[in-house]
Amino acid sequence: RLPAPYRGRFAPSPTGPLHFGSLVAAVGSYLDARANGGQWLLRIEDVDQPRTLPGAADEILRTLEGFGFAWDGEVLVQSQRLDLYHAELVRLQLDGEVYPCACSRTEIAACSPPRAVDGGLVYPGTCRNGLRGGRAARAWRLRVPDTTIAFGDRVQGRVEQNLDRAVGDFILLRADGQYAYQLAVVVDDAAQGINAVVRGVDLLDSTPRQIWLQQRLALATPTYAHLPVVTNACGEKLAKQTQAPAVDRSAGSAALAAALRFLGHTVPQEISSGPLRDFWPWAIAAWSIERVPARRGIFPG
Ligand code: GLU
Repeated sequence: RLPAPYRGRFAPSPTGPLHFGSLVAAVGSYLDARANGGQWLLRIEDVDQPRTLPGAADEILRTLEGFGFAWDGEVLVQSQRLDLYHAELVRLQLDGEVYPCACSRTEIAACSPPRAVDGGLVYPGTCRNGLRGGRAARAWRLRVPDTTIAFGDRVQGRVEQNLDRAVGDFILLRADGQYAYQLAVVVDDAAQGINAVVRGVDLLDSTPRQIWLQQRLALATPTYAHLPVVTNACGEKLAKQTQAPAVDRSAGSAALAAALRFLGHTVPQEISSGPLRDFWPWAIAAWSIERVPARRGIFPG
C-alpha cells in the first residue's frame, strides 16, 4: 500500500547544526526511501526567518554529505519560495477559507485553554465572522471543521484529531509577516511530489492540520510514518533550540548505527565500526519499518 514510485524527503530547519535527533529522522527517511526503491529529496525549512541561524543550512548539508547520504534533485529552500506561499494564501482568501485575525496571544489566552496537543492555544474563533470595532488584522487563519480527521500512520497506527476542539482555526500567515510552517510544508511536499513522509513524532499532532490544508488546496495526501524522537532525561524533545549537541560529522558508521539502533534495529559490530560504503548497502537491506518502536519519546540513556 506504499505509493510507487516512492518519493520521500528530509526537511531540516536550519536553526543549528544537525543533532542526534535530526540524524535519526534523516536515517529513517533515507532508509525507508531507498529500501522501497524510492527517491529521497532535501528541503531546507528556513521559512521561520527569526529562528534561522546563518550558515546552519550549509553545515547541515555538509554533515549529511559527510555521512554519505545521497539526495535526489535540487535542494529546495523555503526562504526562496515565499511567492508560492503567497499565491496559495491568496487562493484560500478568494475561496473564503481563511480570514484575518486581530487577536493577540494575551487575548486568546484570556479565554482559551492551552492545547493538549502542543501547548499552543485553541483559537476560540473570535474573528471568525469578521473583525469587530475597527481592529487591525494581524494574522490570517484557516477555518477548520468540527469533524475528526483520521489517518493510518505506518508506525503509530490510527491517529484521530478533531481539529476544532484540539487546535481551532490555525494561522497560515503570522502577525510578524512570516508564513506558517503548516502552509510551507504542505505547499512544498506537493511541489516536490512527496508521497511518503517519514519524520519525527513531534509532528504527529500537526499532521491532521496538514491533511485538512491539503484538502483545501486540492493536493494529494502522502502516507505518513512518525518516528520516535530523542528526549532528554525529563522527556523533553532533544532539539537545536534546547542546545542538543551537534553530531560529529566524522563519526561515520558508528553514529549512523546508533541512530538505526534507536529505530529498533540490531547493528552488527563489524558494520558499526566499518566504513560508510559498507554501512549503507547493509542498512538498506536490513531496514524494516515494523521494527521501529511506536513510542513518542525515548531517552537513549
Ligand atoms: N522542519 C521540521 C523540523 O526540522 C520538519 C518538518 C517535516 O518533516 O515536516 O523539525
